[in-house]
Amino acid sequence: MTNHRKSPVEISQDEFKAIGYQLVDTLAHFMTTIEEKPVTTGETPKQIQQLLGNDKLPEEGISAEAIITRSSDLLLNHSLFNGHPKFFGYITSSPTPIGALADFLAATVNPNVGANILSPMATAIEKQTVKWLTEFIGAAPTCGGLLVSGGNMANFTAFLAARTAKAPKNLKEEGLTDSQMVFYCSKATHTWIEKAAVLFGHGTNAIRWIATDADNKMNTDVLRQTIATDLQNGQKPFLVIGNAGDVSTGVVDDLVTLAAICKDHDLWFHIDGAYGVPAAVLPECKSMFKGIEEADSIALDPHKWLYAPLEAGCTLVKNPQHLIDTYSSHPVYYNFGNHEDEPSTNFYEFGFQNSRGFRALKVWMALQQVGKNGYVEMIAQDIALSELLFALAQAHPELEAVSQNLSITTLRYVPQSEASENYLNQLNQTLLNQLQEGGEVFLSNAVVTDKYCLRACIVNFRTSEKDIQEVVEIIVREGRKVHQSLQGK
Ligand SMILES: *Cc1c(COP(=O)(O)O)cnc(C)c1O
Repeated sequence: MTNHRKSPVEISQDEFKAIGYQLVDTLAHFMTTIEEKPVTTGETPKQIQQLLGNDKLPEEGISAEAIITRSSDLLLNHSLFNGHPKFFGYITSSPTPIGALADFLAATVNPNVGANILSPMATAIEKQTVKWLTEFIGAAPTCGGLLVSGGNMANFTAFLAARTAKAPKNLKEEGLTDSQMVFYCSKATHTWIEKAAVLFGHGTNAIRWIATDADNKMNTDVLRQTIATDLQNGQKPFLVIGNAGDVSTGVVDDLVTLAAICKDHDLWFHIDGAYGVPAAVLPECKSMFKGIEEADSIALDPHKWLYAPLEAGCTLVKNPQHLIDTYSSHPVYYNFGNHEDEPSTNFYEFGFQNSRGFRALKVWMALQQVGKNGYVEMIAQDIALSELLFALAQAHPELEAVSQNLSITTLRYVPQSEASENYLNQLNQTLLNQLQEGGEVFLSNAVVTDKYCLRACIVNFRTSEKDIQEVVEIIVREGRKVHQSLQGK
């Protein structure tokens, strides 16, 4: 250290240890006492802003210790904790503790995983992570891919690869001269597809929203008919997207039939498994995910059901050359050549990013800490807890259990007196807001066959049966209160 240039950002070894150990102590305590805190404080943006205070850009620096202490205080006392055992909102998991340590290590070494030469070990670890994820979910063993920031990016990355593979060869030079390219997905598909349609110049009219059956799966007869009609009308279908765990209720489409339809028409078959596809590791779920090995590409989100801290998504492509065909270029200012004996992997050629952080490390570490069997156990428990919630709702006279797939349960509060559908929707929407602000439990919502429901998605390794029982009591207790106040009593 003594020969280092003196810079205001450097921290001496002793100080780094002192504040680092202190932070580790604070975080260890936080993790072991998290259930004693509210899930969220319910503070308004204005209150939060006030806590943050003075928003002048600092002119002069202050000590790192003071900053660490204040930042810990702000974040540990005024955040929503998705690591809390009663957090079931949206699809955000409790974060693996080893992931926190992984990010610390990754940030310290700071490999740029855009090019092999800049990140020799990190690139090898990311390649191994991609291989392990492929094996984990049972995708085609030829799959390659990369880590991205999340499900949206994972789906976008695959979308463009699909287009390059299926479009006329001049698309890369001439752009979208052919505006007839269309693609297919069920009405339950996540909003990323609309962003993709806009971003990549197709427009949202190019999305063919295929109706779902009563079970919320894509209706494959309607899909066939729609493709046939489009072909008759001179459109150019190129892609079908299947859901493996739709974002709202967790339904897995009939992947085998979708794969067959794609084969018949030479279409790219993409699976959006951002949430659900890790459940394919469970022997009892294997049949539900049959067809996954046929997919040309798959999006999955380690920051959902593999419990990686945000952010970690992953794109897998059966023939990874399609990624390189889409994203690779070789500017003169890059000297990222191959080794003579072995071509090197430069991840900048696989996706959107150029400089890339080391997201893979936290996923790679957790896969080793837990092992495949550990994940089988945790994912199965999440599903069992979701089923328990459904069963308790079914058994309760003031609750209606609406749906249960994978680890997502939807339900609603239904007072014992006569109530219209309109009123029930209003009641449950108010109830959800109340619960979210209350901080005892965090749920989100779903609209299932026009019913406004409370929705619990359990991707949380801290949740126990007792939490589920308590959540049922909380919902009923608060439901009664909201009903009474809406009645003006
Ligand atoms: C969560 C989710 C996405 C979006 O993923 P992000 O990580 O939030 O970008 C896309 N599709 C499905 C099915 C999802 O569950």
